[in-house]
Amino acid sequence: KIPAIQGNIQLRDVVFEYEPGRQALKGINLDVKAGQSIALVGHTGSGKSTIINLLSRFYDITSGTITIDGYDIRKVTVDSLRSQIGIVLQDTFIFSGTIRDNIRFGRLDATDEEIEQVAKAVGAHDFIVSMPGGYETEVEERGNMLSMGQRQLLSFARALLADPRILILDEATASIDTETELKIQEALKLLLKGRTSFIVAHRLSTIRHADHIVVLDHGRIMEEGNHHEL
Ligand code: ATP
Ligand code: MG
Repeated sequence: KIPAIQGNIQLRDVVFEYEPGRQALKGINLDVKAGQSIALVGHTGSGKSTIINLLSRFYDITSGTITIDGYDIRKVTVDSLRSQIGIVLQDTFIFSGTIRDNIRFGRLDATDEEIEQVAKAVGAHDFIVSMPGGYETEVEERGNMLSMGQRQLLSFARALLADPRILILDEATASIDTETELKIQEALKLLLKGRTSFIVAHRLSTIRHADHIVVLDHGRIMEEGNHHEL
């Protein structure tokens, strides 16, 4: 079990094969200090999602090591690892239930007040209260009454409430109107503050906010630096 963590992450010679003999990652080395945000960029198939899959242990690495505060992530239980990591995936997960329950997900002890606090912080409160049932509005899994941008803001509120030391975010590619886009950028800035984060970034604005940008190509790091250096 990992005790309260700082969020320093190291990848050492990380190699991964989904299928024997085909390396999706060919020796990745990264040192991430607690609180830093890392943007992963690169062409389709370059290995961005693979890195975040390994960090959250959806797969185990083929060779090399990943450590969090010096702990090899293979030596801790998946549950204790995931309890430290917030994951926001592209296809934002909304389940059938109220808006409130969707934000509360994973933090069952959260009070109504806390829920409204995080919703306000990410800029979701206004659209929530404008819905017929406010926070008690029932949404569907396929959530067609919510726009992509609104779903994204809800998932940010959920992540903020969970308050993990490490955040993994696969940025949605869906086109979103400018106003919501600005809201999302603001919410993202807030969400990243004080956490170690890995973001598969598609938007230039997101890349600019990152402390460190890693450019992947065919499973290797081709370039890295901040956005002034690249
Ligand atoms: P995209 O921008 O399209 O999301 P990506 O950078 O996230 O691309 P990855 O999904 O990490 O790319 O894929 C890296 C390599 O691993 C690719 O060659 C891909 O075909 C392969 N790959 C990814 N997922 C699997 C899988 N489940 N089984 C087999 N091969 C896979
Ligand atoms: Mg991907």
